[in-house]
Amino acid sequence: MKEKKPFWDKEENIGFVSVEAWDGLIYKVWNEGSPQTIQKVADILAKVRYDINRLLIYLCKNKDKWEDHPIAFGIYHTFDIHTPHSDENTFYSDNAMNLINRNSGNDLFNYQEMTPNDDGILGLNKPKKLTEIIVNFNNKKINYEIATKRSIFLTIRPKLSSHGDPNYIEPYNKILDLAIHELTHTTCNDTRWKSDNHKHPYPIYHKMMRQFAKYCNVIK
Ligand SMILES: [Zn+2]
Repeated sequence: MKEKKPFWDKEENIGFVSVEAWDGLIYKVWNEGSPQTIQKVADILAKVRYDINRLLIYLCKNKDKWEDHPIAFGIYHTFDIHTPHSDENTFYSDNAMNLINRNSGNDLFNYQEMTPNDDGILGLNKPKKLTEIIVNFNNKKINYEIATKRSIFLTIRPKLSSHGDPNYIEPYNKILDLAIHELTHTTCNDTRWKSDNHKHPYPIYHKMMRQFAKYCNVIK
């Protein structure tokens, strides 16, 4: 018999439709509501990707703001996951946005709509393909677990259920806040579900990521 999934490991395929957004990428959207709403949700997920990429480009160009802080390892790790195969030339190119999307595509990293659930889970940063790497830490070699793929799930329609209004869409600033919250879980390299995943260093890193997002005008 197949092992039962843990409660937080929400379904990501059944009940979803794949929709092409304005950026040419495919997003998984919960199949409820009008066709216009479903398209709009995909387009919002593409906007989230665009804004988070703007933040990552800003971070790459402003290393002096974080390189000497313990967050540095987390930010480099965030580049590896969220902008795979992109190097400094990519970030500095006039065409950075398109290059990042082309490099990361849909199979290495994606955003999708949150699966409706009764557990109060609004967003999820789902680590995939866990692997152990060996890193030097204070002259000692330690085994360190990382995810090499991730999916970020975001609540776009809070009343999504047969009882609510599936065409009601959350204000964009709230969706973006949630996306930065979830992005910070990558920065913290959270690879396992913990009942409290928001302990040190999470609050410090989250505050810094929000601050950086304000500096580059992603958060207005
Ligand atoms: Zn969280």
